[in-house]
Order: sequence, then structure tokens, then C-alpha cells
Amino acid sequence: MGKSTLASTIVASNPSNYTIGRMGYSICKITPHHMASVLTAEQCGKIFQKDTRNASANYGIGNDGSIALYVDEDSRAWTSSSRSNDCQAITIEVSNSSIGGNYPISEAAWNSLVNLCVDICKRYNFKLLYDGTPNGSLTKHNMFANTNCPGSYLESKFPELANTVNAIIDGQQILPEIPRQPTPNRKIGDTVKINGIYVASNSIKKLTPARTTGTITKIIVGALNPYLLDNGDLGWVNDNVIINSNETSTSMSTKKDINIIADEVRKGLWGNGNDRKNKLTNAGYDYNKIQKIVNQKLNANSK
Ligand SMILES: [Zn+2]
Repeated sequence: MGKSTLASTIVASNPSNYTIGRMGYSICKITPHHMASVLTAEQCGKIFQKDTRNASANYGIGNDGSIALYVDEDSRAWTSSSRSNDCQAITIEVSNSSIGGNYPISEAAWNSLVNLCVDICKRYNFKLLYDGTPNGSLTKHNMFANTNCPGSYLESKFPELANTVNAIIDGQQILPEIPRQPTPNRKIGDTVKINGIYVASNSIKKLTPARTTGTITKIIVGALNPYLLDNGDLGWVNDNVIINSNETSTSMSTKKDINIIADEVRKGLWGNGNDRKNKLTNAGYDYNKIQKIVNQKLNANSK
């Protein structure tokens, strides 16, 4: 059983839409596709559950950045119109953010694609080579068939995808931030609807279904800034789904030890550059102090 821990759900494809096993081939390629639709990872997976579809993919990434497993990594999905490619590749369907034109994808989907590629490359021990031919380790559908896939926008970003993924593997760049909704200031006692949280950090273990309603009992300060509801669910609040706001209650968020925050920064949970600076400052931390610890730890590791 091969599966990325980044996948928050499994939407198993109908067995008539893929081949069990990889006919002796090893995994050494990634082939990103576009859905030519705006879908969640789950919606795309449901298409591959129809026994008449004759197609599948190992993974799907929704427009919101959520990742679902459709076909176990140990098996060959039918995605790229090439048996030898799909025997060697993990194939990923990526939702578009709008249909037509250059078929763009969202930033959330892009970040998830980068994170998933890094995870796959690390586990199967290869880097992404995009040379525009089927011999590279980053391949595309239109190398094997007369198709618009992966769409001109995603295709134009293949060199960037290879460079970014390889730089992260080499430790020269940190993973992009986990996509999420912006978190406005809410207080303990506010009744809110939250969006799901789909990647766990050390302090956050629970996966929350999207759009749960409850009262905020705790505000967890950190890169993800999620709210804990009285029903035990964690998630982010989207401005347009606030039910009501209790203005009299006070925030009781607690700060973490700056060494813990420094470790979170190194894991990429606080973003990069100015984005990182703003987030740390807004959460009440001393950016310069934390950056100093981060740099010390990086230097210690490189010796
Ligand atoms: Zn395709």
C-alpha cells in the first residue's frame, strides 16, 4: 500500500479503471494532469468510481488544495495514454481554477502539487527532470496523445515545478504553506462555521470536515491559527460564514516557546520572507529573535 500522508481522503477508483501492480516497473516519474474542470478532489474521484470511465489517476488535487488518493501508488492508473509512462509514474489530476483560456490553477492547488511532488520524490528517491521529452521524470499527457492536457498554464509552470521541488529536496527552499482560508480575528465564545483543516502539525491532530458549526473554545496561535470549537473540531473561519459574534468575550490565546516557533519556521509553517515576518509579528512574536534562532540552527546543521 503506497499513499502520501498529504492525502486527506481516499476516493477509491473502480477496479475496472486501472491495472493492479506496475508490471515490474519502479516509480520514477510524476505526471501532473489538469481536470479541465473546477472540482474538489472528492468530486473528481467520484468520476473514476464509474465502471465505464476507463480512466483514473493516482491522486487528485482540488481547487481548494485538498488532496485525495484514487489509485494506490502500487498500482498503475490509466491517466496519460501511455502504458510505459503510467507504469513508472504517479499521476496527479489537478483542478483548474476556471475553465477556458489558459486553464489556470489556484495557488492552493499549486502549493499542494509542489508538496505532493516533494513527498513522492523523497519517498521514491528521485528528483524532477523536465526536458520536454518522455525520458524526463516530469512528464505530461500531451507527450503521448493529442490533448490539451495539462493546459497551457500548468504546462508553462513545469520548469518551475521541477526547480521548486528539487530546491526543497536539497534544503534550499522550504515547503510552501499549507493552503487555507484567511483567518479574521474571532474571539472565544463566538459562534462560527469553520472550514476543514486537512494537514496536521504537531499540535493539531484532528481532521475536521468542512463547514462545522460550533462555539470557539480556544484560539491556537501558530502558523495555521485554527480555532477549536466546543464540539472538538478545529478549523479556520471564513469571513462570510460567521453566524454571530460575541464581542464581550476576550481572547485567551497563549504563546508558544520561541524555540518551538523557530522549529515551525524551519518546517515551513510560517511561510517565507515578508509573509513570515508579518505572520510572526501579528501573532505577537519577535521576528528578529526567532529568525536568529532559525539561522543558528541552520548553521549548526550545515557544519
Ligand atoms: Zn491528462
